[in-house]
Amino acid sequence: EQSHQQVEQSLKQVEQSHRQVEQSLKQVEQSHQKLKQFTADASHELRNPLTAIKASIDVMLKHPERIHEKDVRKVGVIANSVEHMTNLVKDLLFLARSDGEMSIPERELTKISLNSLLDDLVESLEDLAQQKEITLTYEGFAQLSVRGNRDQLIRLFSNLIQNAINYTPEQGFVMVRLVQHNSSAVVTVEDTGMGITPEQIPLVFERFWRADKARNQRAGGTGLGLSIAQAITNTHQGKIKVSSQVGIGTCFEVSLPAYEL
Ligand code: ADP
Repeated sequence: EQSHQQVEQSLKQVEQSHRQVEQSLKQVEQSHQKLKQFTADASHELRNPLTAIKASIDVMLKHPERIHEKDVRKVGVIANSVEHMTNLVKDLLFLARSDGEMSIPERELTKISLNSLLDDLVESLEDLAQQKEITLTYEGFAQLSVRGNRDQLIRLFSNLIQNAINYTPEQGFVMVRLVQHNSSAVVTVEDTGMGITPEQIPLVFERFWRADKARNQRAGGTGLGLSIAQAITNTHQGKIKVSSQVGIGTCFEVSLPAYEL
């Protein structure tokens, strides 16, 4: 009888701690929601003053003769900083919105031919590659389509290809490929760039992480490009991974559920 009572007692305790855990989880979830809302609100609120500053600077730059010669360079610096901040705010807003989202709402999904999406994207980035005399190529080995959000997919692959161009020295190569692997469309973006060390590999998808902050600041990125690429891949039920060898190059691989056209 006594041991029965003890068992009952323990059961009650287990139940109680279970309830406590549930309560704490709810609180964590609530503060997560609040933080997410705050990031979204803050990014949103920051946009208006930035737009106003940009408009004023554009007017100034249209009439450089009205600016004191000594200040022309300074206005250029302000213009660059405003653009950098605008990008940051845009990226943060996107991440805050997609945070915790498991998938894209059905109404936003369309059937997209990956082959033509990548073909067009690579063509539009050719000028950027040419500025560094980088050979940018695309090979589509399969006619595949995915269900997704077109703008987001462009953003995902554009982030990867622009990084490849950014982190590859002049006269290097950037190769984009699309192949089919079982029921997946596999897109690889491979470069002959500086590479990423094995210790840094687990960090690349972290928000604001950058291998060389000083140099990259000048390159104009926000340190959020790969976090965004990962968030988009996740909401498209895909997988993203990276392999790299220092001094040889890097390869990002994105696989997405696909079907033949
Ligand atoms: P950003 O490019 O704006 O710095 P990302 O999130 O796109 O931010 O990338 C984070 C960091 O990962 C970069 O700063 C760079 O150090 C490293 N990285 C990304 N892509 C490559 C690449 N193709 N080759 C070498 N390093 C890369």
